Amino acid sequence: MRHGRSNPQEERWRARLATRVAARTAGDLSRAVGVFGGYVPLELPLALGLEPLVLSFGGSPQAMQLGEKYVRADACPFCRSQVGVAEAAPWLGRVAFLAAFSACDQENRMLETCGRFLDLEIQVAGAPRTRSPNALARYREDLERLRCRLEERFEAALETARLAGAVAKMRRLRARLRARRADLEFADFAELVQGCLMLGVDPALEFLASLEPKAPPAARPLRLFLAGSCVARDDLVFARELAELGAEIVGDLTRLVGGLLACDVPEGTSTLAALAEAYFHQPDMGARPNDGYYAALAQAVEAVRVDGVLLRCLKFCDIHSGERRRVKEALEPLPVLFLDDEYDAAARPRRRTRLESFVEMIRCRKA
Ligand code: SF4
Repeated sequence: MRHGRSNPQEERWRARLATRVAARTAGDLSRAVGVFGGYVPLELPLALGLEPLVLSFGGSPQAMQLGEKYVRADACPFCRSQVGVAEAAPWLGRVAFLAAFSACDQENRMLETCGRFLDLEIQVAGAPRTRSPNALARYREDLERLRCRLEERFEAALETARLAGAVAKMRRLRARLRARRADLEFADFAELVQGCLMLGVDPALEFLASLEPKAPPAARPLRLFLAGSCVARDDLVFARELAELGAEIVGDLTRLVGGLLACDVPEGTSTLAALAEAYFHQPDMGARPNDGYYAALAQAVEAVRVDGVLLRCLKFCDIHSGERRRVKEALEPLPVLFLDDEYDAAARPRRRTRLESFVEMIRCRKA
């Protein structure tokens, strides 16, 4: 069931996007490179004439239950549901190659499992999460390895001019998606971003160009910022519930929505080393030290002027739940709700109560 305000215009773009994603996944995937995680530069497959598809599906209790057949029940719900959807999405087995930088042990297990049972050609490396020069050098090597494998597999060669062109295109795509942020509620925006990134870059640019201009939704009384665990495509009920309570998520720094769009690759970047540098320094809560994430968080929160912050952590997501205290301290005096969450339908009433109390507390503060 959908929550929140939708109108016929919104339903039209949503239906068109869903149709295009379905057609994309039913079509020829022999040059599609599935991408997991924020450290695979989409510019690399693009510059090789391939089609990067960001895989961010999953997020429903049903998918999570399916995934439990393959990964341990103490993996985060995001990872369990990714495997579950992979089982139910036969098209994924037709993706030519899967590239990933695993951000945590749970993701590692999920990727190994997906690769094994779908029999995919896959390259997984660890996300470069220490900020030592050595980590950057290793990340560059991993990207070089990925480049070589892609070149060999698809008989392509990376050229500087094509890489610069791919960088320009991705900059355009990120900018066009960001430009839609003010027009849409968070759940709709997340759906737009993740749907577009499933289309591939050129079709996504074309789809965005075809969208009719839209009046921004009427402002809700409370403005919130979202940080925390990865947000999957079917994991948006919490945002729609917040909207029902009169609170709007006006910005986020989560890995598969705002975090993905925040990665800034400078114009004119034309070497793999420079691309690696840009992706290496993206805001990542799991990096050590993660001061860069906190600087980006403070800046993003400041830019949208909010009444409070939601730090949403999925069950077993240690990367984000371990930062609870520091997030509170870093954002003082803004109120921060630490919401431990899961996909299980049984957890919904408790989540609703916590969201209600938080919204009410902010309302009283503002009164
Ligand atoms: S960062 Fe958290 S939510 Fe994302 S894959 Fe890892 S454990 Fe799961």
